[in-house]
Amino acid sequence: MDQSKKLAIVTGGGSGIGLATTEAFVKNGIQTIIIGRDENKLKEASSNLGELCAYRVYDLSETSGMPALISEIVASFGAPDILVNNAGINMKKPFTEVTDDDFKLIIQTNLNAVFSLTREVVKVMLPKGSGSIINISSMSSQYGIPYVIAYTATKSAIEGMTRAMATELSPMGIRVNCVAPGFIATAMSTKALSNDPQRMNKVMSRTPMGKLGEPADVAQSILYLASDAAKYVTGVVLPVDGGNSIGF
Ligand code: NDP
Repeated sequence: MDQSKKLAIVTGGGSGIGLATTEAFVKNGIQTIIIGRDENKLKEASSNLGELCAYRVYDLSETSGMPALISEIVASFGAPDILVNNAGINMKKPFTEVTDDDFKLIIQTNLNAVFSLTREVVKVMLPKGSGSIINISSMSSQYGIPYVIAYTATKSAIEGMTRAMATELSPMGIRVNCVAPGFIATAMSTKALSNDPQRMNKVMSRTPMGKLGEPADVAQSILYLASDAAKYVTGVVLPVDGGNSIGF
């Protein structure tokens, strides 16, 4: 796949699914800028991946700084061709224990940040008349999962926004798609499942492939949606889930 000369931004590219995506992009010659809060993680990823991977330390819950962030990236690297809105946080708590501040934090990081960052990136994609945006949803928007009310709200919104953006932006050459990972072995899923054997059993019992996915499994589908191989694909939500979303 010749992706040379392409430029991507991957939020949360320092770990898990974002890191695997960055590895896949770099392997395919795509210059990739990763964004996260933890400079050590970003620096390590960038030095392991070499000159095609640069990083910017930024807390995406601070939406007001996004125009400056994107302007600086454009000035340093040019206008991005690909945006992967991967960064996200989860919170597992009984419904009545979720405070307004808990709820707001998840919405700010998983939803408001995606909107604001994408708006700034689309402004610089529009003059080029091309671009590929990939959002990351979750099984929590395919069916009901208890104890993740705020996370579910954000991921359901992400799927709706994907369709709305795809209809508005595809006529201008910008494709917008979404990947809905099933249960993937990362820090996030370890936190949610490792001390909860009942939940782990539930996950496994409805996953026909009988195992957790690997970050690279999701990365390959993101690479496909980002690439010209998907040039007639827009507005889809692609489950990468070992069959979890259709499991009995
Ligand atoms: P990780 O916890 O490994 O990675 C999340 C990444 O998001 C981190 O690199 C983190 O970077 C970044 N991040 C979080 N908050 C912020 C912030 N405020 N500003 C900047 N960066 C931030 O999780 P996964 O790889 O598992 O998750 C990636 C995506 O996949 C998420 O959107 C998640 O909801 C989704 N997903 C994951 C599933 C799974 O089973 N793992 C299932 C379904 C969806 P840093 O710490 O440097 O800020």
